[in-house]
Amino acid sequence: MSKIYDVAVIGAGPVGMMAAFYASTRGLKPILIDVLDTMGGQCSTLYPEKNIYDIASHSSCTGLELTQKLTEQLNQVEHETALGTSIKSLKRDHEQIWNLITAEEKTIKAKVIIIAIGKGAFEPRKLDVAGEDLKGIFYTVKKLDVFKNKKVLIVGGGDSAMDWCLALKDIASSLTQIHRSDKYRAHGGTINQVKSAADAGELSMKPFYEIQEIKGLNGEVREVTIFDNRTKTQETLPIDNIIISAGFLTNLGEVQNWGLEIVDNKILVNPQAGYATNLANVFAIGDIAHFEGKVELIITGFGEAATAAYYAYKAINGDIKGAAWCAKLPK
Ligand SMILES: Cc1cc2nc3c(=O)[nH]c(=O)nc-3n(C[C@H](O)[C@H](O)[C@H](O)COP(=O)(O)OP(=O)(O)OC[C@H]3O[C@@H](n4cnc5c(N)ncnc54)[C@H](O)[C@@H]3O)c2cc1C
Repeated sequence: MSKIYDVAVIGAGPVGMMAAFYASTRGLKPILIDVLDTMGGQCSTLYPEKNIYDIASHSSCTGLELTQKLTEQLNQVEHETALGTSIKSLKRDHEQIWNLITAEEKTIKAKVIIIAIGKGAFEPRKLDVAGEDLKGIFYTVKKLDVFKNKKVLIVGGGDSAMDWCLALKDIASSLTQIHRSDKYRAHGGTINQVKSAADAGELSMKPFYEIQEIKGLNGEVREVTIFDNRTKTQETLPIDNIIISAGFLTNLGEVQNWGLEIVDNKILVNPQAGYATNLANVFAIGDIAHFEGKVELIITGFGEAATAAYYAYKAINGDIKGAAWCAKLPK
């Protein structure tokens, strides 16, 4: 008979890693599954070198450092992983055990499922402007060094765009940030920091500007024509690299066929019941979870992970009382 895990956590981003850790400390046997070969989710794949300032007890750490710390923490407790594994479908058998069917038609069995798949499969939103296929255009930033002494243009007014402004202002030889309006969607403190840096002459901020055309030489970006969308005035800037932070197009793919209630590409959950979904013994947490008042942050996801692990214990043992505080402490 194949092994039955207590909890299968689908998605090994920061929130899924924390859920596996918590489940193990509650005495449950978790398996942590990710379609990628590496753990850390968005932190390790999208911004390994960006600083994160809002993790409790870390005044600052990069996406990669956070992933390393979470890995160390997880490795202190019993758990299994199945990386490079994509879950195609879910079926509950006559013994009320969930069968997770992988792309290779293998079956992972678990009593409870915690879904922590972030934004699902995602691809960056393109601007659809002339020259966008040239070399030197980035949608994510993996290595800050790439931009050393380069003339960089950042497009966007959200958290990522503002974060990259702060990370690159002392690395790039020149930095210009454009956004199609003067309404920035980033964290207030970050916007103020970028504005102060612009006032100090460390970068140039251009609200109401959009890209008209990107021109290249030998297949690489050389200059960009931008325009003021209020006056249509154009300006051409010498640029080596462009970072386009226009968000991501998300696609839940196969997850949409799992019988879950989906709202705006997210899984609807009940926060009063440990982030339970409409499927029995299936919880969803982190960026993928939708409920009123949801805040998409790593730290709030950690709280959801702890709560879901408690409710996983309850689903298996019928009572939450036995899930004593750190029932199985790391050795
Ligand atoms: C540039 C940028 C900067 C940010 N800065 C901050 C910050 O400073 N502070 C902060 O709190 N938040 C920040 N965030 C947001 C933060 O990264 C997310 O809230 C967090 O990563 C969500 O964690 P998660 O575990 O829910 O999902 P993710 O990190 O998205 O991880 C989900 C994992 O699930 C896997 N997966 C997806 N689909 C499947 C599937 N079908 N089967 C198996 N595995 C699957 C993915 O491969 C991925 O590894 C930032 C985000 C970006 C893009």
